[in-house]
Amino acid sequence: MTAPVATAPVTPPQIEFIDLKAQRRRLGENLDRALLSAVDEGAYILGPQVGRFEAALAAFAGAGHAIGTANGTDAIGICLMAMGLRPGDAVICPAFTFAATAEAVAWLGATPVFVDIDEKTYNLDPAALPLALETAARAGLKPRAVIAVDLFGQPADYEPIEAFCRDNGLKLICDAAQGFGASYRGRRVGSIGDFTTASFFPAKPLGCYGDGGAILTNDGESAELIRSLRFHGKGSDKYDNVRIGMNSRLDTIQAAILLEKLSIFEDEIAARQVVARRYAEGLADVAAVPFVMDGCVSVWAQYTIRVPAASRDGFMKAMKERGVPTNIYYPRPLNRQTAYARFPVAGNGLPVSERIAQEVVALPMHPYLTADVQDYIVAAARECLAALGEGAS
Ligand SMILES: *Cc1c(COP(=O)(O)O)cnc(C)c1O
Repeated sequence: MTAPVATAPVTPPQIEFIDLKAQRRRLGENLDRALLSAVDEGAYILGPQVGRFEAALAAFAGAGHAIGTANGTDAIGICLMAMGLRPGDAVICPAFTFAATAEAVAWLGATPVFVDIDEKTYNLDPAALPLALETAARAGLKPRAVIAVDLFGQPADYEPIEAFCRDNGLKLICDAAQGFGASYRGRRVGSIGDFTTASFFPAKPLGCYGDGGAILTNDGESAELIRSLRFHGKGSDKYDNVRIGMNSRLDTIQAAILLEKLSIFEDEIAARQVVARRYAEGLADVAAVPFVMDGCVSVWAQYTIRVPAASRDGFMKAMKERGVPTNIYYPRPLNRQTAYARFPVAGNGLPVSERIAQEVVALPMHPYLTADVQDYIVAAARECLAALGEGAS
């Protein structure tokens, strides 16, 4: 017999939603040295650390090329520029995602067409893709690409999406801002599709200490084009401007930090699996816990459970009272956001996205979540859900 779970601890532990300080302690002096030498060496723009990090990132993912960018949103925009996206073009993407996915499409005057998600994985539903083609055709738009999102760290269901893109002459961009480090049936995210984009925003599984991003591709010609686009469309040198580009480079200092973080990333991915397993064991009988597809490894950017829509606010408030931070990703699908409501949706609306947005709630998730703190979170969640259940009946 195990002891009954504590229901009223005297002082709740200080619980971080994502504990970046624990990682910082682990990186220790190696990080101090990497940071200082980047500053002292003085090659602040595209210094040697950037190239070293790009090579390490490509090797990690099993991709031919990696190109650092200023952030993950620019990374998507640059891929779209590389494929010559223009007004009149349509890009199919989910609405249950962070705004950046569709934002980059709109930058170029093209039109995002929103598709619904799968109710178990929260990722783009491959079966809904043909509806998006019909919607694009009705609107007189030319479909050019699909942006699949690895939401919460789980890879999108890439096999049927790849087949759909192949059959319809569409490019596949994998928005792996949350999914970098995950794998899909033996393939690492970053090696799939025409382009993969990553974000190193601090809270992402592989985060830096500021903004950062990258594009991965297996195509050498695209990689060259992307290197030009991120640097004002440069040609043979930086004062030879052969196309309209952007200023979107990964900082040398961030690359130096990322090299250190990448060296422990594999270990952190393994630690994230342990944390996710403990949550599933502790909560599966009282809440809808995440479903991971066969043959896939999530990198657990978020650990998102679902509770009845009517109980969610109460649940979050009760968790907060117990010292447990929670967050909602995402409270509204993009088709319900002011800036995106004018864009077309595939089929007769996005019922799954709309419903799931009312029910999701994310729990603290990071590789340094200890078993005792996690036990406390699980006990708190069980208690809060039970109390709300009684209130409802
Ligand atoms: C964070 C995020 C981005 C954007 O990354 P930034 O580096 O913040 O620009 C894009 N797509 C998704 C799904 C994200 O979660």
